[in-house]
Amino acid sequence: MKLVRLVYYSQASRSMSLSDLRNILQTARSNNDELEVCGMLCFENQFFLQALEGDRETVNELYLDIADDPRHEEATIISYDEVSEHTFAKWQMGYAGGSESFYELLRKNGQTEFDPEQMTQAQAISFLVDMAAFQTEI
Ligand code: FAD
Repeated sequence: MKLVRLVYYSQASRSMSLSDLRNILQTARSNNDELEVCGMLCFENQFFLQALEGDRETVNELYLDIADDPRHEEATIISYDEVSEHTFAKWQMGYAGGSESFYELLRKNGQTEFDPEQMTQAQAISFLVDMAAFQTEI
């Protein structure tokens, strides 16, 4: 198995309620568990930023499905790398958004508003990795 990590951002196509986000996470968590994919999803300011980690073919196919989802648009890949081990907790999809620690970390990255378009590849990955330790319960 070739383990890869794909990171992309996108914009919500409409305003997202808590229950919209819960639905996305519920589907993601149950599918990813079966697919042996893990990662981290952030949502704020109408932007999604997500890392997907798993087998290369599985991640590629999953990304195409996700990018096709009408709940968001303009999915843009920031990075795609072969990795030697998992960065994110195995077989789950973490979530963070809107919390105090989320904004604290944004400020450390020089942003006041969450805008992944302005992040470099390294900033996006380290933001996701750092936020995995400060997840938001929804
Ligand atoms: P269903 O959930 O039944 O979906 C069938 C189809 O309907 C899909 O094309 C789906 O895009 C669409 N759909 C479902 N619910 C809605 C809705 N409320 N409004 C409009 N269209 C809808 N899936 C994963 O498996 N893993 C992930 O990590 C993951 N991350 C995601 C991140 C984001 C930001 C978004 C928006 C979606 C994510 N998804 C993820 C969901 C993914 O896009 C597909 O919905 C899912 O893989 C299909 O699951 P399913 O086969 O159970 O079908």
